[in-house]
Amino acid sequence: MMHAVSPAPESFPHPYSYFRGGFVPATQAVIPIQNHAFLYGTSIFEGIRAYHLPGQNAMCLFKAKEHYQRLLSNAGMFYMEIEEDLDRCVALTAELLRKNQPTGDTYIRPTLFKDGCVVGTNLDKVPSSLCVFTTPLGDYLPTDRGLSVCISNWRRNSDNAIPPRAKAGGAYMNTALIVTDAVRNGFDDGIVLTQEGMVSEGSAMNLFLVRDGKLITPAVTEHILEGITRSAIITLAQQELGLVVEQRPVNRTELYVADEIFFCGTGAQVVSVTSVDNRPLTNANGVGAVGPISARLQALYFEVVRNQHPKYADWCHIVPLA
Ligand code: PMP
Repeated sequence: MMHAVSPAPESFPHPYSYFRGGFVPATQAVIPIQNHAFLYGTSIFEGIRAYHLPGQNAMCLFKAKEHYQRLLSNAGMFYMEIEEDLDRCVALTAELLRKNQPTGDTYIRPTLFKDGCVVGTNLDKVPSSLCVFTTPLGDYLPTDRGLSVCISNWRRNSDNAIPPRAKAGGAYMNTALIVTDAVRNGFDDGIVLTQEGMVSEGSAMNLFLVRDGKLITPAVTEHILEGITRSAIITLAQQELGLVVEQRPVNRTELYVADEIFFCGTGAQVVSVTSVDNRPLTNANGVGAVGPISARLQALYFEVVRNQHPKYADWCHIVPLA
């Protein structure tokens, strides 16, 4: 039998975390096994990226305000209070980066969680608190090739069950089932349908289709997370490529006949999907090839997140490390 051991200090490449109002060694940011969020999944969280700017010894914290604004907006849904306001959230994240001195691209995980040892699910009985850790993160999914994905036979948790727009910790059991079964079945990842059988999103990323030069993405009413990357892509597609973007319900078979599909998200960034349920997509670049619009949007996105596109400099919060 395998027993997990207590984390050794060296297993945290970034030595500090933000926990219960202060900065502590990552090894000390721990919760007891009776913690409500551990017992019931009662947390909401964000995933934020900070890109390393080696020439400047600085990090580019991408859309940090938008991420924390989403966290603060969702808190009320679960009767969670949060001590830190928006500016403090961004400032403490910058401070944490400076303390951790990353040497490469970094993932930041703020979690607002029910922080009390209470048996029983009533949210009113448990206080909340914010914690944040950072960790090195390269590509979450391969960005240099097209993915082969399946339509998952799991369905997305519905807005009337565990709202996907809330980014609730417990909801990621759904994501875990989708990804694990997709990978066990030989796919890179999975696309998940709503309870009604319409396309919602990828396991942990939003989804776009290209059909006849138009960009299509499931509307925010399709049980999706209202992704921050999704909204950045909509802006870039409209402003930089002059594309029409439709936000509407999407049928499963629209995926099979699409010219291009790509996923987007903070972790995933922009990744092309070139085959769905063993059906390769066909576009100007060939059968099963990464399409031209996906490739252009991916390149543009990588410029923008590293603050190489002056027009979108206000999406970037530069954090000097010295
Ligand atoms: N959908 C789900 C279910 C996700 O977990 C994520 C990743 N946070 C996304 C979409 C993409 O959201 P964002 O662009 O805000 O990271």
